[in-house]
Amino acid sequence: MDVPCQFPDCREKADVYIAELSSHSFLRGATWCEPHARSQMPFTLPSQPHSCPRNDEEYARFELKYIVGFVDRPEPYGLLYLFDDNGEQYFYVTSGYFEFNSSLGVARRRNDPRPLTFQAIAAIIQALGAQVQDVIIDEYDVETTVYHAKVRMLQGNRPAVVDIRPSDALPIAILTGSPVFVSKIVLEKVGRRTK
Ligand SMILES: [Zn+2]
Repeated sequence: MDVPCQFPDCREKADVYIAELSSHSFLRGATWCEPHARSQMPFTLPSQPHSCPRNDEEYARFELKYIVGFVDRPEPYGLLYLFDDNGEQYFYVTSGYFEFNSSLGVARRRNDPRPLTFQAIAAIIQALGAQVQDVIIDEYDVETTVYHAKVRMLQGNRPAVVDIRPSDALPIAILTGSPVFVSKIVLEKVGRRTK
């Protein structure tokens, strides 16, 4: 797919797709050449994909703000950018292309005739009379660059917690309108300041 970069007068081939979200909903999307994707966004794009978390009582609220897809690659992949409430601090989670595409679908309120796994998970939680309270990203392993997350639920008065990958947890948060919390220990390892 040869799509030109959307930057005015740029003739380069676009190979990065970036979706911007507001209140968990798709706001706008554009394809960029990599240099323009790097210069136009308030965050830093990594040169290589890496993925991403330790349990703690201290959490900060974050929101999924950008969904980035490196689409024209031998192995396409996605980056899910989360920003804090002030828009000052952010970090990203690397995902596969499938998770990139499905996160984008959820943000765009795209309805799949056959539910994706996390859509089914959200439906099962609801069918069992429970509700998602929040999603927490609570561990990052520096060696393997892998994040760990949990979905916290309430069934009546009974709390339940389940381990889940962030790339599944984030779409569930979007689907159910639940907040995302990130442990401060994780942020010490991966948090960055906006440009
Ligand atoms: Zn460009």
